[in-house]
Formats: sequence, structure tokens, C-alpha cells
Amino acid sequence: MPLYMKHAGPFLGRGLLTGWISAVRGCPFSCRYCSRSFGRNVTTRSANKIIDDILEFKRLYNSTHFQIVDDLFMAYPKLVKDFAKSLMERKVDITWECTGRVNLVDEELLRLSKESGCVSIGYGIESGSQKILDNMNKGVTVGQARGAIELTRKAGLGVRSPFMFGYVGEDRATIAETVNFIKEMKLRTAVLFFSTPYPGTSLYEWARKNNRIKYNEDTYISLLGNNAETFLVNLTDFADEELIRLKRETELKLRRNLPFKIKIDKYVLTKIYIIKARFVQLGFMGAMKKAVKKAMGLLKN
Ligand code: SF4
Repeated sequence: MPLYMKHAGPFLGRGLLTGWISAVRGCPFSCRYCSRSFGRNVTTRSANKIIDDILEFKRLYNSTHFQIVDDLFMAYPKLVKDFAKSLMERKVDITWECTGRVNLVDEELLRLSKESGCVSIGYGIESGSQKILDNMNKGVTVGQARGAIELTRKAGLGVRSPFMFGYVGEDRATIAETVNFIKEMKLRTAVLFFSTPYPGTSLYEWARKNNRIKYNEDTYISLLGNNAETFLVNLTDFADEELIRLKRETELKLRRNLPFKIKIDKYVLTKIYIIKARFVQLGFMGAMKKAVKKAMGLLKN
């Protein structure tokens, strides 16, 4: 655990070390690109057991912010409500965040979450184009995504969402729809992730069948560590260079469009918080070593 905690992400604004907690395993939905860390069968823990873990974590590592890392915590509204109520009954003073699904939120769920310390919800919206959402078999609509964001903000909670780039069927029109959605909803998104097929998914089967993956499985798996920020597989009809260029241009457009306040927060305050947290986490020498390592990595690239 000490080694693990050295790499725990700093939560910005409150507490320095984020504690990671698992509350449920499995997800019953069938998004084509998702490898579901624990499969389809769902097992949940009781709200009080999750809170016992949180208290133990807090006692041992001084964490005051917790990330519930499950694929889809908010898919279980009863558990989330019990969890929020128990946090308040037991007067647990923490902040927390989790994952949600845009078709599964309601006002009561969000209100209780907020009252018990929730600060933000991550929705895997992935695209602002209905055509792409349907290709992904997401089972949600762009309208539902819009509604969930509005409801979440109304409850006083932040919204986080990753977006993919270059899913099967992506073209200039779908890219424009995604950009417009991000702008319209004033999301902080400025980095997109290449749609990357993971072994075990139906997207991976499709990519193999259609000769989109140029590597054998072992090599391919070893290349997956880049977190989909760099190009690996082309699932679209664009040429590789065109796809890479379009992604860069789209990100630039999104970055330019960020409101000034968000730019300051994202590119200045966040960096200061991270540096401060690294010094507390690793000590002066540890933080310097990490900075040198990072600088050398950047120079190499
Ligand atoms: S993307 Fe989310 S909702 Fe879809 S299968 Fe994966 S965990 Fe479930």
C-alpha cells in the first residue's frame, strides 16, 4: 500500500490523496467497445461495508477524498442512496466521486449524493453523435446526455466525461456533432481518446475481422498501455494521417474554445495543485526525481 499510495492521484482543492474504493463489480450493459473490468454479472457490497472500508482507508492514509472506481456505481440507485444516507448518518466527513450513466440519474439520487459529499460524476458520454452512440450500442441518446448534465449541475455537482475519436462510422459530420455538443454543454473536454478496441469486446472482434489491427495479439496488448491518447488502430474510412490530423485539429478547436476561467483552472491552478500534492506525497527529493524523469520522457518524445 505505501507504494500504491505514492502514485495515488491528488484530488484538487481538498485533501491530497485520493482513496480508491470498489463498491460494485460488473455491468449489465453491452457497449461494444467496453471490456467491463469484471464482466456482466453484478455483485454489490452493502453501503455500510463500503463505508467501513472508507473509514479504514482514511485512518491509515489520511485520505479525505474518495473515488469509487467501479465501472458503473450509479447503475444501482438503491445502493447509492443507501450509501449517501449512511455516510450522513455516520457523519463521515469526506468528499467522493463516482461513475454514472446518463439514463439512470434522478433528482433524488443526485441530491442525496451531493448532501453526502459527492463532488462530481463521470459519465462516459463518448460522442455527441447519435449515429456513433448507436454504433457503440450505448443504449442512450444525445438528449439523455444533455438532460443528465443539466440535472447534475442543477444539483451542484461537477460533470466529467471522456469522448472518443474515430469510432466505427466516424466522419466529418459526426466529429462536428461531438464538437458542438461539447461546446453547447460547456464541458472542460479538450483531449479526445482514439477509439481503441480491447480484447474481449465485440469491437475488437470487428477490428480483427476487418483487418484493422496490424499486430498479433501479444504485441497489440503490450501497446495498449498508452491510454488511447496515441494512435494505434484506425476504425474509420479516413487515411491514418488524416485521422491523426483531424484529431489534433479538433482538440485545438476545443482548447481554443474553453472559457478563460476554465483555461486558468485547467492549465494553471491544476498544475500548481499537482506540484503541491507531489511535494507532500513524495517529499522534496522524491518530487524532484519525478519531475526530472517526466522532463526526460518529454525530451525523448
Ligand atoms: S461503457 Fe459503462 S455502461 Fe457500457 S458496458 Fe462499459 S461499464 Fe457498462
